[in-house]
Amino acid sequence: MAQALLQIDLSALQANWRALDARSEPGIETAATVKANGYGLGAGHVAHALAHAGARRFFVAIAEEGLAVRAAIGPDLPVHVYGGHMEGDARILHEAGLIPMLNSVEQLTRHLEALPGHPFGIQLDSGMNRLGMEPAEWASVAQIVLAQNPVLLMSHLACADETGHPMNAAQLAQFVEMTEGTGAPRSLAATGGVLLGPDYHFEITRPGIGLYGGAPFADARAVVRLSIPVIQIREVLQGESVGYGNSFIAPRDMRVATIAAGYADGIQRALSGRATLWAGDIACPLVGRVSMDLLTVDVSAAPEPPEWLDLLGPHQGIDDLADVIGTIGYEILTGLGQRYARHYL
Ligand SMILES: *Cc1c(COP(=O)(O)O)cnc(C)c1O
Repeated sequence: MAQALLQIDLSALQANWRALDARSEPGIETAATVKANGYGLGAGHVAHALAHAGARRFFVAIAEEGLAVRAAIGPDLPVHVYGGHMEGDARILHEAGLIPMLNSVEQLTRHLEALPGHPFGIQLDSGMNRLGMEPAEWASVAQIVLAQNPVLLMSHLACADETGHPMNAAQLAQFVEMTEGTGAPRSLAATGGVLLGPDYHFEITRPGIGLYGGAPFADARAVVRLSIPVIQIREVLQGESVGYGNSFIAPRDMRVATIAAGYADGIQRALSGRATLWAGDIACPLVGRVSMDLLTVDVSAAPEPPEWLDLLGPHQGIDDLADVIGTIGYEILTGLGQRYARHYL
């Protein structure tokens, strides 16, 4: 079998949710962000496991993503949509019982016309300038909105992974100014906001990346392991080339393993010549270019010819791999391809 194996540790996911939940006071609800197919790990599996751990509320990015989550958790728990209510969403919002987080007066109008009486929340812009109503826009409709009992008022922090960044306090102050005294439940904190402390927690937190084992939640347990089978091993003599473009020339005689995954599996081509794989505890450098279905790896340091090499595992987490090419763990996770055998533990 030449199918790489992606192991997804749902008990680690659950432990991460409990650990983040424990960072806020007991009365504060810890929801879960499961957008982008549960950060690439399978929204249904992830949501089901988190509901078992105690999560009672979920967030997705677009309405279509809510279907898999709804199917996994049953009819009762709220599922919110960050993207709000877009043209054509009414049916899916209604049928899957999703709660749009309305981002503008335009979305508010659309929602009240298309689905009167259907629950909604409001997303406010506290300074990030990405989604949500601006302060003046909110002021113009707040009274009307509040009379309709929005289920949640939320905003999102731009710099929550940088503890000392002045933007955090500025956004907090703006959010408080926009929501204080409304009586509606509030949410400001994703993973970074949970870690910033109680001022940022309000009634509901909604972490994502920390659940999946990523920074900035330093105490997270790793959730994924990616093991790639060796197809063949050859001796490469000093001066011979390996792979496309002859980009690697062997500086000495070496043993090179060709393994069954490549950029089609989300292993970015930018990792060419830069990544490290692991044969158990032995570091083995990737040599030459990442191709579509294959990687070539110098396994000379391994005492036995390995049958599998780990790209993600105990020696290299998602953020370690991300650092090699200047990206973030979020992108590593959500880029994981569809060709892996996915085993849920
Ligand atoms: C993605 C997202 C989250 C979750 O953020 P993490 O950094 O993954 O915890 C929360 N809120 C909004 C609006 C988001 O887009």
